[in-house]
Amino acid sequence: MELVDSHCHLPLIESATRTVSDFVEAAHAAGVTHMLCVSVDLESFPRVAEVAAAHAGVFASVGVHPNTEIHCEEPSIARLVTASEQLKIVAIGETGLDYYRQTGDLGWQQARFRTHIRAAIDCGRPLIVHTRDAAADVIRILREEHAEQAGGVMHCFVDDWDTASAAMDLGFYISFSGIVTFKSAKALQAVARQVPAERLLVETDSPWLAPVPHRGKQNEPAFVGHTAEFLANLRGEAAAVLAQTTRSNFFNLFTAALQ
Ligand SMILES: [Zn+2]
Ligand SMILES: [Zn+2]
Repeated sequence: MELVDSHCHLPLIESATRTVSDFVEAAHAAGVTHMLCVSVDLESFPRVAEVAAAHAGVFASVGVHPNTEIHCEEPSIARLVTASEQLKIVAIGETGLDYYRQTGDLGWQQARFRTHIRAAIDCGRPLIVHTRDAAADVIRILREEHAEQAGGVMHCFVDDWDTASAAMDLGFYISFSGIVTFKSAKALQAVARQVPAERLLVETDSPWLAPVPHRGKQNEPAFVGHTAEFLANLRGEAAAVLAQTTRSNFFNLFTAALQ
């Protein structure tokens, strides 16, 4: 069974004992043929781009995470568009809003989010959207900025059906991480049951959020199969079918434009 990991942070899982190449090899050995290595700031973007360039089956994005605040280079539309032209850069993000980890006046987060959406439309790349405790503002800004012109994915989705549905109306995909395998995630599991197969993606968001049975340990792309199998059971689908569907969704969203 072949799978893809639609969202991981390979440079962040590297350690003294295991390199990025080791993690990519382990993923390939587990049937995870492709993965998207997601950028969180411009300072570390060169490393993210290098990881993609150096490894078969690894693509990358460019963007600045909504929580990256102090001492970071604030992205401009031109800077993102130029970076997106590098080899194997298939998306803009991760971007979005996170009102959980930061509070107060978050106008700067919203402005940064708008910059990413405009860049994605300019360069014809899809968006990787991170949202936490901010669903209403995320959907409002996606609509105001006409994000349907870029499309994209709601990554590590944890919100309700109305949010999923509003995002899908804008042409977005819904990506589930290991969170959906947690016992406490009943409401999220109900949403995951309803998302049409042609809009479904799976991810690890590694090094965080390892799925059951690795919950609490460091996550890695090789573990995405646990989430895929859980989702298949939940939806009453064969695991091989769900694997195939999420793979073709991944290629439709991220790499169809490259061919
Ligand atoms: Zn995220
Ligand atoms: Zn992430």
